[in-house]
Amino acid sequence: MATNTHCPYCALQCAMRLAPAGRIAVPAGAASGAGDSSAGTALEASGRDFPTNRGGLCRKGWTSPALLNSPERLTAPLLRGPDGVLRPIGWDEALDRAADAVRAAWERHGTDAVGVFGSGGLTNEKAYQLGKFARLALRTPRIDYNGRFCMSSAAAAGNRAFGLDRGLPFPLADLDHAHTVLLLGSNVADTMPPFVAHLQGARDAGGLIVVDPRRSATAALTGGGAGLHLQPTPGTDMALLLGIAHVVVHEGLADQDFVQRRTDGYRPLVRSLNAWWPERVQSVTGVPAELVRETARRLAEGVRSARAGLSAGGTYILTGRGVEQHVDGTDTATAAINLSLLLGLPGSSHSGYGTLTGQGNGQGGREHGQKSDQLPGYRKITDPAAREHVAAVWGVAPEQLPGPGLPAVELLKSLGRPGGVRCLFVHGSNIAVSSPDAGAVLAGLRSLDFLVVADFVLSETAAEADLVLPVLQWAEEEGTMTNLEGRVIRRRRAVDPPEGARSELWIMRELAARLQAPSTFSDDPETVFEELRLASAGGLADYSGIGYAQLEHDDAPAYWPFPAGSAGTPRLFLKAFAHPDGRAKLTPVSPGVPAEQLHRAGELILTTGRLLEHYQSGAQTRRVAELSSAQPEPRLQLHPATALPLGIGDGDMAEISNGRGTVRARAELTTAVRPDTVFLPFHFPGEQSANLLTQAATDPVSGMPEFKTSAVRVRVLEKAGIL
Ligand code: SF4
Repeated sequence: MATNTHCPYCALQCAMRLAPAGRIAVPAGAASGAGDSSAGTALEASGRDFPTNRGGLCRKGWTSPALLNSPERLTAPLLRGPDGVLRPIGWDEALDRAADAVRAAWERHGTDAVGVFGSGGLTNEKAYQLGKFARLALRTPRIDYNGRFCMSSAAAAGNRAFGLDRGLPFPLADLDHAHTVLLLGSNVADTMPPFVAHLQGARDAGGLIVVDPRRSATAALTGGGAGLHLQPTPGTDMALLLGIAHVVVHEGLADQDFVQRRTDGYRPLVRSLNAWWPERVQSVTGVPAELVRETARRLAEGVRSARAGLSAGGTYILTGRGVEQHVDGTDTATAAINLSLLLGLPGSSHSGYGTLTGQGNGQGGREHGQKSDQLPGYRKITDPAAREHVAAVWGVAPEQLPGPGLPAVELLKSLGRPGGVRCLFVHGSNIAVSSPDAGAVLAGLRSLDFLVVADFVLSETAAEADLVLPVLQWAEEEGTMTNLEGRVIRRRRAVDPPEGARSELWIMRELAARLQAPSTFSDDPETVFEELRLASAGGLADYSGIGYAQLEHDDAPAYWPFPAGSAGTPRLFLKAFAHPDGRAKLTPVSPGVPAEQLHRAGELILTTGRLLEHYQSGAQTRRVAELSSAQPEPRLQLHPATALPLGIGDGDMAEISNGRGTVRARAELTTAVRPDTVFLPFHFPGEQSANLLTQAATDPVSGMPEFKTSAVRVRVLEKAGIL
């Protein structure tokens, strides 16, 4: 029996069919892959027609069934004994031990000593319930999640400019008709390959403009007359955006009618742009002044083309983590939004601005109360009306809801410290690998009084735990996800879970009962979703009009906001922005001081990113044989001109180090990186972990860490010939 569901990984949430191996009729050219299911039946995945993937799956997607019957699958809770060894125990004992640890932390250090770290990979139901569980059962404000590492700056900038943050405020299919696309800091050709089909229209028009310090697989799509590749020095995206906006204003390319009718703040913005003429931008970014001008003109040309009816679509500006993962990420994303507003893109039916969410439920994960400063419905936790509404749904008094907690990096810095978190619950995150300054995080985890990790394999974080709780995988239970378009979709149970693994919803229900929490905690996903609908009603991310039955099939797409009685909102801002006065806000921004000094003699700039074969910390994809054999280890990309004086040849083992840590990786010499830059993927653990080198300095608005620039030294460790 085949089951229609969606991929376990990224925010594209490609539609797939899971069926017993050999039973899928695979159309010629369509991807499919097999793996053993947890029930012992081999499953294979094939792509299904759906607007985001149109039948395509990437290598990660079609090998995903192999995860279901991984030999490394956990099937019993594990408790660390006095000898330091993790041993299987029963569920009753595991839950009792977790509840005892919470009570001990409360008694010794107060309720704030308990913390929760969630994930943008959790279903909407789990993300919602985890926020409620933290605040009512664990009685702590200290919950945050790994979305703080990937979307928080774009979210803060969207809220600042539009009054609302939804990754793409338009259906992805709108992009197909684009005349011009400016894509900054996103390597979709590796991270979400089916997305590339949506760029074909712009490539055909010669209008794909990619901004990336590396000639990534996506930047290479601009070759052959398909567009432009701008290759700025890492960390200078804001200066580049200011320069493009300067040209738009000074060459009369701004949409003055749109600016007057729909925005505030034009004059201060123009004054702030005066200082960013293209030659100055060239000196800061390394991007030739003429390319800065050319980009501005092409963006304006796309809009003109659509208005004149010469092309079905106009201009789109899209940002990704390369722009956002900086200490000035919110301001850099704001610079991109300012540019889009000057051109009149947002709220248009033929053009737009958006940001590409990375994690599978990166969008839904930030709407339902996992963030330290938010309640369900994307409500501010400090808003008295929001607290009253959510408290009423939960059947408690507003005073029983804690206030704001700590954003992720601050929460991790507090681990084991006086006044900090002493007992931590981790759900769906491998923070020992994915966090900035990962060595310090590992030390923090080891200093805790008690660490509980819920996962389905022994990830590097679970390996540090006092108690590991084995949980279900994506195809073993029902739930909903919200993709990068803000579209809510159903994930379906396709196989029986292994004996001994449990849903996080069940775990929360059992622990809440042991801790005598107020309110109810269901382990039924649909019941939890019904409660989520009520809690979100009237909020910015309103799901109250969406039901499980409606999501049964793909032919009635559900885009939030979707108030009860409405038809949802595929395209946002067509009539008004979400600020009370309906107008978008232009906010002047300027580059600040880098978190650490770059360009010192003998040092290079490390930037990090992803590979086609791996997803996030690699905890899942490193356990899929086909993926791990294709990319078993990280490669340090460096320019041949950089490698030569260092005595590093292709394939040599190199050491990359700074004051935070030391990493070993084999060298890959390539002109795809700038001579002042080296690149490492961040999917690998231990001495191969790129995040041993990254900084825990954060954006003051969003709490986003500076992942994308770190000063490092590189030296040869072993020559390839003598390995
Ligand atoms: Fe899965 Fe993303 Fe690949 Fe689609 S692009 S198959 S959602 S990992």
